Amino acid sequence: MKVLLVRPKPWLVDHILNKPYQDKMDILWVRRYPPAGLAHCAAFLEQAGHEVKIIDGETLWLPVEAAQYEAGKFNPDLVIGQVNFMNPVDDHLYVSSVARTVGVPLVLRGHLGRNYPEEAALMDGATGVLTGKGLVSAVDVANVLENGGDLATVAGLAFRKNDKVVITGPERLGEPDSWPLPARHLLDNGAYMCLAVRRHPFTTLHGSGGCPHRCVYCIDSKTRYWARSPKSIVQEMEICRKDLGIREFSFLDPMFNITEERTAQVCEAIIKSKLDISFTIKARADVIDGSMAKLLARAGCTRVGIGIESGSEEVLGDLHREMSLGTIERAVQALKAAGIMVMGYVQVGNVGETWSTFSRTMDFTLGLKLDLIAVGVTIPLPGTEIHRRLLEEGRPDPWLIRLRVKPGTPVDAESMRPAGVDVGREKLEEWRDLLYKRFFMHPSYMRNIVFTRQPWVSMHRLPKVAWTNFRTRAKGFLEKQVFIHGGIV
Ligand code: SF4
Repeated sequence: MKVLLVRPKPWLVDHILNKPYQDKMDILWVRRYPPAGLAHCAAFLEQAGHEVKIIDGETLWLPVEAAQYEAGKFNPDLVIGQVNFMNPVDDHLYVSSVARTVGVPLVLRGHLGRNYPEEAALMDGATGVLTGKGLVSAVDVANVLENGGDLATVAGLAFRKNDKVVITGPERLGEPDSWPLPARHLLDNGAYMCLAVRRHPFTTLHGSGGCPHRCVYCIDSKTRYWARSPKSIVQEMEICRKDLGIREFSFLDPMFNITEERTAQVCEAIIKSKLDISFTIKARADVIDGSMAKLLARAGCTRVGIGIESGSEEVLGDLHREMSLGTIERAVQALKAAGIMVMGYVQVGNVGETWSTFSRTMDFTLGLKLDLIAVGVTIPLPGTEIHRRLLEEGRPDPWLIRLRVKPGTPVDAESMRPAGVDVGREKLEEWRDLLYKRFFMHPSYMRNIVFTRQPWVSMHRLPKVAWTNFRTRAKGFLEKQVFIHGGIV
């Protein structure tokens, strides 16, 4: 069977902030990650003997007509479309338009189906919705549709039957080490880049998933932890290095350093492989000490992202972070002493946030002299503790509101305000922007730019990024014209 996997183009309206899409610059110029989930899904399908194509409308910024044109050329028997909860209606419109063009069944995959299977299954034209990771279940759906079986036999699926939604049991994934490696050969690998990455080409990689911690805002909180063996991680790195020339990996693990032992095992395996590669991770500060930082550096770790979240001990307690400001400070110092860049993740709009708690966050963050920061306004992601509290207050589920709007329609941003936050969205965004401004204007950041290794190490890549943007946009434009004026489809 021929299966087409589609990641939709990003949308110009940000449904959370109710204003023009802010991440447009980010996706076009700063951070273009490969569609790791779809590449993995493709690998499972190929292993089962299906022919697969991936359309990455997000990175290539493909108009829907260009995706329709490409779909027509491939002529698939099944379309699996990515739909996430941020902009579900627009995502659905994109992938369903593609499936309709070629007149084949559409199966939805992504965060929406994982969190709202029933609502996703009722979306127009959806034959089914993958409710888990969408790997083994994607293969099972393809097999059933090809051989005329019963969808109810597919684990990890929601589908409509006689005006009711049937939700089958959880997807059975087996041991992570037995999973095929992501089908990167199906991607335009030259289109992926990140300005904060030191060496290109780069790619992303999953060494583990899930997290036993219980941070109230985190979508990975209290999810089942799974991990690949260090040997299998290194094997994937070796293949990427040999076949695609990859020189840097961004681990997508929510928390790379779950224990000292696991971290040491992965680092030792990478060191032993003698691969000339670098990598970046996200880690918890309370598991980092001087010796772990040195080991990470020896293995090739160039940047660690750590959660700071707030500069107020009380707020950290409310977030269930279970670590002190002193712990964060010591981890940052240890990483910097080992020559590793540190990126701090900060949140504005935590429960009980006031100007006073935010000022402390700002002072603390600036005092750490980080290499980079990412500041976000807290939103109640589905399944998190703060989402549960919002519903307990009797407020409507903000994600369901987003499911019921017309495509392209902005939604009231205040619906996203978590319970216990009295500051309005607009003010929180002002504070976030203020922190960014103060950080980038701070003398320590300026000193970094002028005298040290980062953060503009990849700025020389901008011409290449510009060329990639031009190349992919021009291709999309031409395909759109061919499609509109009666091309191949
Ligand atoms: S924020 Fe990090 S430590 Fe906390 S639950 Fe999420 S992944 Fe785990």
